[in-house]
Amino acid sequence: MISGISASPGIVFGTALLFKEKKIKINKTKISSQNIQIEIKKFFKARKKSAQQIHEIKNQAKKKFGKKKSLIFKGHILLLEDEELEKEIIDLIKKKKITADFAIENIIQEQIKTLKNLKDEYLKNRTIDIRDIGNRLLKNILHIPVVDLSNIKKKVILITKDLTPSQTAQMNLKKIIGFITDLGGNTSHTSIMARSLEIPAIVGTKNITKKVKNGDFLILDSVNNKIIINPSEKKIQYFKKEKKKYFNIQKKLKLLKDLPAITKDGKKIEIGSNIGNYKDSINAKKYGAESIGLYRTEFLFMGRNNLPSEEEQFQAYKSIAQKMHGKSIIIRTMDIGGDKNLSYMNFPKEDNPFLGWRAIRVSIDNINILHDQIRAILRASAFGKLKIMFPMIISMEEIYYLKKEVENIKNQLKKENIIFDKKINIGIMIETPSSAIISKYLIQEVDFFSIGTNDLTQYTLAVDRGNEIISKLYQPISPSILYLINKVITESHKAKKWTGICGELASNTEIIALLVGMGIDELSMSSISIPIIKNIIRKINYKKAQKLANKVLKEKTVENIQYLIKKFNKKENLL
Ligand code: PEP
Ligand code: MG
Repeated sequence: MISGISASPGIVFGTALLFKEKKIKINKTKISSQNIQIEIKKFFKARKKSAQQIHEIKNQAKKKFGKKKSLIFKGHILLLEDEELEKEIIDLIKKKKITADFAIENIIQEQIKTLKNLKDEYLKNRTIDIRDIGNRLLKNILHIPVVDLSNIKKKVILITKDLTPSQTAQMNLKKIIGFITDLGGNTSHTSIMARSLEIPAIVGTKNITKKVKNGDFLILDSVNNKIIINPSEKKIQYFKKEKKKYFNIQKKLKLLKDLPAITKDGKKIEIGSNIGNYKDSINAKKYGAESIGLYRTEFLFMGRNNLPSEEEQFQAYKSIAQKMHGKSIIIRTMDIGGDKNLSYMNFPKEDNPFLGWRAIRVSIDNINILHDQIRAILRASAFGKLKIMFPMIISMEEIYYLKKEVENIKNQLKKENIIFDKKINIGIMIETPSSAIISKYLIQEVDFFSIGTNDLTQYTLAVDRGNEIISKLYQPISPSILYLINKVITESHKAKKWTGICGELASNTEIIALLVGMGIDELSMSSISIPIIKNIIRKINYKKAQKLANKVLKEKTVENIQYLIKKFNKKENLL
């Protein structure tokens, strides 16, 4: 039995598919004149195979997304079979006496370089297609299997070293019924995404790719954090019962989903959902969300080849506004950088991406992106109760600047006679120690705070949130973090404003009583957690929870804090 870090709950049974992206190793040795024809033949064979593969993907895409989207792949085939490309590759093999793979790599690199230097945005964005085609050709020449996550035929449990958030977004969920990775932590964006896709997942196992072979039969139980390889019939029966038990609990909880989250003595907490797209907003309603506490708009920017236009963003925000029927929706401006990359933005390689060009820093340095996004949000605010939220704030200067930009855009829209919510609320995420420390000043400038405990924990404790090696140190209930959370809530209340939490701590069943006792106003989480959190809050006595918070805030170690919380939860029969 293997365990890791439960990333998204569920119990599934299935065959393992080992997804290993083998490194492409180009053979750079010179070839003899006799071998020139062999290399040319290799190129044609690989090109034929690549074209067949892309045809297949195109057909799948047509079924899944419609004809328009599938045309992207028609473009890929045209690029692949381009006569000019063919001629350049063959000439290079002949002239330089090099292998087909080396020639392809050279030509592809050259084309990318030329495209990157062009002014035309559309052509610039073709670099991704060229790279994609080049890699496919190379893999086919070198006999490296090409695995396409959106095009898996049999039902499988995916086993892989790591997954990027955009790979997770592209998975065909009808076929991939769960995934297990070597790397990753509970608050990495891949895990967050798995929860919103409701796909069972265990991450950070360290070595699952070494223990499991292709075709092994697996039980993936991320409710109890267990992975069983080739189980006995007795074990299968046992886990089938566990699955049924889990299903029944979920069913019961769902019956409570529409009840408000009010403590026994009448303190109401707003329960929101964290979403990344329109589909998530349908789920939010299904699980009883009272609002959207965090819309991670960066997912709108991912899985595509260019930036979404203002109009596209407007349509996306508007459709969610309409879906939520007047319920509050906090739209966070794009948080790209860190572990979320945009291939078409040519991000520089950074030694410390989480401390680097991320979130609001990218938006401020690309003012057009920020303007388009703010315009889109403001325009959509005519269709629902939208709020703007800025991520990764560290200073007053940033908020002065951002508010001025919002004001300018409002004036622009007024001149254009476009209607929008003139009183739209502006809030910030508190996810850096700096913002928590100066929360007293920041709250004078904004309408609300939402604490991003995922980042606040990593930045305060200097512990990478996605690194399983130090996951034991990633402890959001450390005295330092609780001190900051308490300070932020207190400062906002002094200013007669409110504070929520949209980090993963908001759905940590054991910690809810403490957060309620500290006076949190709103909790926003993956939709699947909403029923269980509401159920716990309805069993809490607020006055008693306040006493717990007072005691906990005096403690100096995680161990003592944990002890007090556990004792309270048990005594109050909360879990
Ligand atoms: C957080 O940091 O807690 C947060 C909610 O933002 P994200 O997880 O998207 O970084
Ligand atoms: Mg964050």
